[in-house]
Amino acid sequence: MEYRDFPRIKESPSLLGFGLMRLPLNSEDSKDINYELGHKMIEYALDNGINYFDTAYMYHSDMSEIFVGEVLTKFPRDRFLLADKLPVNCIDTLDQAKEIFAHQLEKCQVEYFDYYLLHSMHREAIDKVNKLNIYDLLADYKAQGLIRNLGFSIHDTPDVVESFTLQHDWDMVQIQLNYVDWELQNAKRSYQFLTEHNIPVLVMEPVRGGSLAKLPEDCKKIFEEADDTVSAASWAIRFVASLPGVMTILSGMSDMEQLQDNINTVNGDYRLDQSELDLLDEVRKLYLASGRIPCTACEYCLPCPQGVNIPETFAIYNRYLDSDDGGRFCGKYSSLGEGQPCACTECNECEPKCPQKIKISEELTKPRSYYEHITAPGCDS
Ligand code: SF4
Ligand code: SF4
Repeated sequence: MEYRDFPRIKESPSLLGFGLMRLPLNSEDSKDINYELGHKMIEYALDNGINYFDTAYMYHSDMSEIFVGEVLTKFPRDRFLLADKLPVNCIDTLDQAKEIFAHQLEKCQVEYFDYYLLHSMHREAIDKVNKLNIYDLLADYKAQGLIRNLGFSIHDTPDVVESFTLQHDWDMVQIQLNYVDWELQNAKRSYQFLTEHNIPVLVMEPVRGGSLAKLPEDCKKIFEEADDTVSAASWAIRFVASLPGVMTILSGMSDMEQLQDNINTVNGDYRLDQSELDLLDEVRKLYLASGRIPCTACEYCLPCPQGVNIPETFAIYNRYLDSDDGGRFCGKYSSLGEGQPCACTECNECEPKCPQKIKISEELTKPRSYYEHITAPGCDS
């Protein structure tokens, strides 16, 4: 395992970090974490050199931090570095921020966080942080040793990344970075800005919520022709690992296979040469032309007041685009039950919460229209 040193970071975090937002589950309920398998994965990760573990208040419907407290923090404290995040969206007063921070330490059963970040910043959240003086509170916690490194995570445009980075003194910044968003969301510019300012980059969504592991057939074929022994996900991990200035790549791993694949990737000769970068360019172009809805299944848009299952609807539609199997699509769509897009009243409550800036109610019309088209009387497509 590689450990990259940065002057402003107090420890040597592993290049591959374990994101604790997609832990294995016993059922479809995101709270129902499979502790037995989760424990095995944590142990395997630690034994293979991963020392960076990333949780957040809202992951697994508030249960990820509990899992940390009951599983991860039972290992010796000097074997792991723990990152947690302040849910700025849920806070209206400074006292609430203090209460949540204290509750997080308690849930995780630790006395300090190695890394602490303001979670999912965007323009309005930045205004709130500045108005409530939340940065000063966290800087004070850092001075007291309750936080060892302070940063923020952000899904907004490069302009907002740059502006907020310059407003305070940060040890690291977490951005969404992968070979598709390099262009789609101009992540390249945010990355370049941060590295020019010597701020270590934490990478989230390196495989775009898993969507770059399950590529459209034409994209898959390009990778397979280049090397049919490696996974599509490994290409995505290699892209971000090849970027100097990246401190840690956070991957939300759900099974042992993904964990082993990611470890093998970063332990191998991951640096991409020019011909491989050209290959990724080709895949990126095809991916962007595929018509997929760029949802990463983060669930920040939920709950919808009408019960629409937004991420699952988009996942079903994207899967259909792969298989072109209308019958299968209809079966899955029907199984959404009351969570089908027809329940959407276009209230727009979800859209400001979507880090990918998806026009959710508009995009929901695509799976809905398709379903209505193939189930219309007389239609056999
Ligand atoms: S716009 Fe539609 S999907 Fe979004 S919250 Fe409102 S009803 Fe739910
Ligand atoms: S629609 Fe947006 S907020 Fe909702 S799951 Fe997808 S990416 Fe996340």
